[in-house]
Amino acid sequence: MRSYKTEAIVIKRHNFLEKDRILTLFSKEKGKISTIAKGARRPGSRFSYHSDLGTIAIFHLHRGKNIDLITEVTPIFSPIEAHGRLDRSEKIGYAFKLLDKLYHEHEPHLPTFEVLAQTIRAVSSNDYQLTFLIFLAKVIEDLGLKPEFINCLECGRQLKENDKINFDHRGGLIHCDCAGGGIKNVSNSEIKLLRLIFSNSFEKIGKAKVEVKIFEKVFTIVRNYLEWHFGKILPEKIL
Ligand SMILES: [Zn+2]
Repeated sequence: MRSYKTEAIVIKRHNFLEKDRILTLFSKEKGKISTIAKGARRPGSRFSYHSDLGTIAIFHLHRGKNIDLITEVTPIFSPIEAHGRLDRSEKIGYAFKLLDKLYHEHEPHLPTFEVLAQTIRAVSSNDYQLTFLIFLAKVIEDLGLKPEFINCLECGRQLKENDKINFDHRGGLIHCDCAGGGIKNVSNSEIKLLRLIFSNSFEKIGKAKVEVKIFEKVFTIVRNYLEWHFGKILPEKIL
């Protein structure tokens, strides 16, 4: 079959030649795919509105030799609310950059597709504090890199509330003593938040709120963890 359709999200776009646009889609069935929207920059083109970043739609495509051609778009959701709100757009932007960097083309990642769609909708409407953190946690999990939060990485014993604990970028929580000394660097509240974002569903924790200090510390832990595995992708701070 040279023609196919798939639900997908526009995660990257750039202009091509005079009137066309190259769109990178993150699709439900095939993961990341490169596509071309012919004439998308022509005034009045039926593709012009549907090539905005964050658009969720059913894309009809024709398989090409190097790149797949978009023949029709049936829109599902447009993140119009996030436009003009820098903090919101920025978070979505980082989510797209992350996926573009971490995933190869034509590798399906359904949990990531689903959390991306949920994140776009959530950021567009409510911008809950934990949305972006939950997104990062789900992506890490989908990549098979969920850190250890229950038992010590080194000795395997269950971590207790009063233990001195560190987060080790190689894979999760570890007793300070088992890590060869060092001071406690993760508090009980931070461990609680880490466990929360990695273990519950988007719907359940979306509205939860935590202290800014704890949020920032956990974001730093998650960012450093991704950085250790994949290199620098995320900014020092998110709003
Ligand atoms: Zn230990």
